[in-house]
Amino acid sequence: YSGKKPIQSVADGMVDMTAADFQSRPVVITENLSVYDAICQLFLEDVGTLFVVDQQSLLTGVLSRKDLLRTSIGRTELDKIPVHVIMTRMPNIMYCRKQDTLISVAKKMMDSQIDSLPIINEKEGGLEVIGRITKTNITAAFLSLAEDHDL
Ligand code: ADP
Repeated sequence: YSGKKPIQSVADGMVDMTAADFQSRPVVITENLSVYDAICQLFLEDVGTLFVVDQQSLLTGVLSRKDLLRTSIGRTELDKIPVHVIMTRMPNIMYCRKQDTLISVAKKMMDSQIDSLPIINEKEGGLEVIGRITKTNITAAFLSLAEDHDL
């Protein structure tokens, strides 16, 4: 006996997986940080996406690798451009809650062609960022299904 669950229960395992089960730590920056410093954060924290918040720590924007690359091409004064000028901003941000199923998260990412979603907690006046879920987390979940079951 392998100790693994029968292959028939893969479907049950799949619908039970939530964003909270596979999330990563969010990396958050403030709106007035420069594009230069945002690029440094991306390398230091080893992430592909940064979430931008205001003074109240509420979500205002998202910055991806390509947002930063696009701005950097042919420009030198990256330390003079604040990230709020180039970020994707609210209300155009896709997000999820920690109890959302991983399947609904994957669908949002594929439909919007994005690599990650902030996990948020609804607060008075806005959204507080409490986690991050990426395509890497989805891949980890996929692998965990295979490892937990007798495939
Ligand atoms: P990259 O641009 O590095 O390929 P993405 O595919 O995640 O990374 O981002 C594509 C575009 O979508 C970028 O302009 C980015 O700002 C935006 N974006 C990324 N994540 C989100 C999100 N959760 N909601 C809305 N827009 C997003």
